[in-house]
Amino acid sequence: MSLLKPLDLFLQKKYHSLMKILAVGRNYAEHIKELSNEKPDEPVIFSKPETALLKNNEPFYYPDFSTDIHHEVEVVIKISKMGKNIEEQFAHKYYEEIGLGIDFTARDIQSKLKSKGLPWDLAKGFNDSAPVSEFVSKSDYDLSNLNFSLDINGERKQTGNTSLMLFSFDYLISFISRYFTLKTGDLIFTGTPSGVSPVKTGDHLTGHLENKLMFDFEVK
Ligand code: MG
Repeated sequence: MSLLKPLDLFLQKKYHSLMKILAVGRNYAEHIKELSNEKPDEPVIFSKPETALLKNNEPFYYPDFSTDIHHEVEVVIKISKMGKNIEEQFAHKYYEEIGLGIDFTARDIQSKLKSKGLPWDLAKGFNDSAPVSEFVSKSDYDLSNLNFSLDINGERKQTGNTSLMLFSFDYLISFISRYFTLKTGDLIFTGTPSGVSPVKTGDHLTGHLENKLMFDFEVK
């Protein structure tokens, strides 16, 4: 008989296997401009813990430590095979599926940390800061020319196309895997295009990959 308490069981089901979330900042030129950041010569990488994951269109509960949570819609790669020091030319063998996610960012906290040159973890890695859609086969899409978008309450807020990325999916996998062993189930958020803005309680977020509805959830 299991001795696990209901909360343990719930958490075990939610985070059924250990995985990590890596994310790329400043991968789209227009977004770099809107935040007055410098264009990087190599990818800006940060991570979110697995407790940031939010799935199945569950609502995002607005946290009490911020008053300026921004949406950043991003294409997400799901790693399908363990690897490290992956060469760019073989990187495509390490993922079969892609999805769409939001890299929720507490911009007020991030600005404070950035001004002091401190790490972004609190601004980026908080609970439920990484909603992700179901994943779809990458073979159904042209990854180098992939349109994606975010609507809030039916109004288009962000549109992106992967042809505008500074660093490609394969380059990112190669770069990241020099530092972090990538494991099956790990997720990589590949950066947001311009149009980031605050969300508020009651907002309804819907994301599309090409014309396919990927997620549909509420801020509560
Ligand atoms: Mg982002």
